[in-house]
Amino acid sequence: MKITIIGAGAMGCRFGVAFKEASQEVCLYDIWEEHINKIKENGLKVYSEEGTKIYNFNATSNIDEIGETDCFFIFTKSIHTESAMESIKALIRENTTVASLQNGLGNIEIINKYVDKNKILAGVTNYATDLLGPGEIEAKGSGITKIMNIEGYNSETLNSIVNYLNNSGINTEITEDVIKEIWQKVAFNAALNTMTALTRLRVADLGNTEESKELIEFIVSEINLLASKKGIPFDKEEVLSTINCMLAPEMSGEHITSMLQDFLKNNKTEIDTITGKIVEQAEKEGISLPYNKTIYSLIKIIEKNYQKQINSLK
Ligand code: NAD
Repeated sequence: MKITIIGAGAMGCRFGVAFKEASQEVCLYDIWEEHINKIKENGLKVYSEEGTKIYNFNATSNIDEIGETDCFFIFTKSIHTESAMESIKALIRENTTVASLQNGLGNIEIINKYVDKNKILAGVTNYATDLLGPGEIEAKGSGITKIMNIEGYNSETLNSIVNYLNNSGINTEITEDVIKEIWQKVAFNAALNTMTALTRLRVADLGNTEESKELIEFIVSEINLLASKKGIPFDKEEVLSTINCMLAPEMSGEHITSMLQDFLKNNKTEIDTITGKIVEQAEKEGISLPYNKTIYSLIKIIEKNYQKQINSLK
C-alpha cells in the first residue's frame, strides 16, 4: 500500500516510521521545507527508549511529487486540516482513503467535504511524540490507537492499516464508536492541555494541587452536559480516571503538553478545534459552559499577545 503522510511533524513521522517498518511504501509531505530537506539529506532521526535510529524516506514539500496514493494520513494540527485537504484534493481518486488521528472536533467534517464517508478512517491515539527540530523526533512511551471507518465499514484498507501498525509496535484496535472516543479525547485535552498551558506546568506538577483536580472536574462535567444534550455517548468517569492516571508523576513524568509547547514557542494552539468547538456547539444548543468559555478566552488572549507578555521585571 502507498501511504502518504500529510503533515510530517512529530506524529506524522512516528506513524510514517511504523508504516515503513511494516514494509509499506511511505511518502512524507510537509510544507516545512527545512525539515523535509534535512530528512532528504540525512534521513529522519528517531530517538526512543530503544536507542536512536535513522530512516530514509521519500519526502517532499512539493505536492506534485507525491503521486498516486492509496491512503493519506492527515497529521497536521487540526487548525490546518482544511489547508491540508485543499492541497491534496487533486490527488484524491474514487478509491483513495483518508485517515485522521488528529485531536479536536471538526476534522471529519472537513475531510468529508473532499472524500465520501465510506473512505474516511478516523480515530484517536495517545502515543506521545516530540518534534525536536528539523529531521528529528523523539518517540515516547507506549499507548493505544483506536480507529474505525466513520460509517462502520470493515474495509480491507482499515484491516491492513491496523495490522501494519500492530506489527510495528503501535498498539492499535478497531473501535466501535469513534465519535465517543473523539469527544472523550477532546474533553481530556480541554482539561489537561489548557490547564498546563495556562499554568505553564508539567502534567505531573499540575496534579499536585486539589484546585487543579477540582477545575478539571468542572471542565469535563460541562463537556459531559453538552454531549448528553447532543445525544453523544460520553463516559465522564472514564475521562476523569484517564486524566487522574496521567497526573500521577510515574505516568506522565516530565511531559510538557503540546498546548504548553505551542505557548513556549509562541505558536498558534489547537484551542479553536478543542475548547473553541465545545463552546461554539454549546452556544448553538443554548447552554452555557462558563468554565470552558473562560479557559477558551484566556488562551485566546494569550495567543493574541505573545509578543507583549511580561516574562520578568527587567
Ligand atoms: P506537529 O506540529 O509536530 O506537526 C504538524 C506538521 O504539519 C508540521 O510539521 C507542519 O509544518 C505541518 N503542516 C502544517 N500545515 C500543513 C499543510 N497544509 N500541509 C502539510 N503539512 C502541514 O504536530 P503533532 O504533534 O504531530 O500533532 C499532529 C496532530 O496529532 C494534532 O492534531 C495533535 O493534537 C495530535 N496528537 C499529537 C500527539 C503528540 O504527542 N505529538 C499525540 C496525540 C495526538
